[in-house]
Amino acid sequence: MKAVYHKKLFVLNCGSSSIKYKLFHLHAEEETVLAEGIVERIGDVVKDYAQGFRIIAERLAEEGVLTSIRQLDAAAHRVVHGGRRYEKAVMIDEDVIDAIRECIPLAPLHNPANLEGIMTLRRLAPQLPQVAVFDTAFHQSMPPEAYRYALPKELEEEGVRRYGFHGISHHYLTRRTAKLLGKNRDRLNMITIHLGNGASMAAIENGRSIDTTMGMTPLEGLVMGTRCGDLDPGVVLWLCESKGMDARDADALLNRRSGLRGLCGTIDMREIVSRQSAGDEDASFAFRLFCRRIRKYIGAYTALLGRVDAIVFSGGIGTNSPEVREEVCRGLAGFGIDIDSEKNRQKVDDAVLIQSDGSRVAVAAIRTDEELQIAQESLALLSCM
Ligand code: ADP
Repeated sequence: MKAVYHKKLFVLNCGSSSIKYKLFHLHAEEETVLAEGIVERIGDVVKDYAQGFRIIAERLAEEGVLTSIRQLDAAAHRVVHGGRRYEKAVMIDEDVIDAIRECIPLAPLHNPANLEGIMTLRRLAPQLPQVAVFDTAFHQSMPPEAYRYALPKELEEEGVRRYGFHGISHHYLTRRTAKLLGKNRDRLNMITIHLGNGASMAAIENGRSIDTTMGMTPLEGLVMGTRCGDLDPGVVLWLCESKGMDARDADALLNRRSGLRGLCGTIDMREIVSRQSAGDEDASFAFRLFCRRIRKYIGAYTALLGRVDAIVFSGGIGTNSPEVREEVCRGLAGFGIDIDSEKNRQKVDDAVLIQSDGSRVAVAAIRTDEELQIAQESLALLSCM
């Protein structure tokens, strides 16, 4: 018999200037979203996180979904970096807080904001159980050959290794694809492709991540909105020696002025596609380079996996751009990957299969749901409470 439970869970994504929230009612086999929203301009129009949470509480009361914080069973936070310690969601205690703090040098933009959200909520609601779900956790199953760099051993001990990110999304996509195919995820091999402003891919063997394109930081791998992705480290040395750049200059160049923006001046894939059809050379080149990098990793991950059951597109671009999916899969028939152009053009609300009848590999376009993944991972912990 299934346990009967009713839990109200508050899923939070605290960024440097915003709080995104989704309130779930979780009960046997079903999740209902009671409310969702965002408070923006924290540190500017909204004074701090405490005021942000008060605004959310007022909204929830007005919407009639929650009159007191005491009606919540738990809060669950997306935390970007969990270092090498966490391969699963955890209940937040002093040790977890210390660990998130220790990972600040590895995620200087994200972990401080995530931590601030946790600490503020702790002050406002000391009795409320809080869960942390890490974006790095899903990739902790990578073997050392995937996560280590060929650098002197001591550096690895100091934390210089690949961690990977977008793990919550890759994890969700793995589960959702298994459900879509009606197969057991522990026996499925797939390549998940998350294409948002940040972009990464993962090689999934028997339901577990064995490689991913992002590294110690989110800079490695694919071409992204403003990040260059893979780059000869010699370029950085050249920039320092010949252009007199320091670490801050290089950070600004590689993280914020490169990628699609550096190539053609915009990060918006919709604009790139429409400029391309109007004959714009820079937009056209940016589009080709973006897709080619993804194709290159499909080849690499096919070699690692041996057998690929599914290719999965997601993120704002992967879900909404048939042009990108078509260009990425072009010429991959030799790998057993072939999409049906008509199926590829349909609008994706949740999850669809777009491969042709003759394609050996399933190809899916799936709208990711990181909040739902966080809620379900938290529920596994809360049911033991
Ligand atoms: P984030 O990584 O910030 O969460 P998203 O996953 O929402 O971002 O993805 C944002 C990207 O999705 C943008 O580059 C945007 O241009 C792209 N996008 C959204 N809708 C479309 C569309 N219809 N066609 C092509 N690209 C789209």
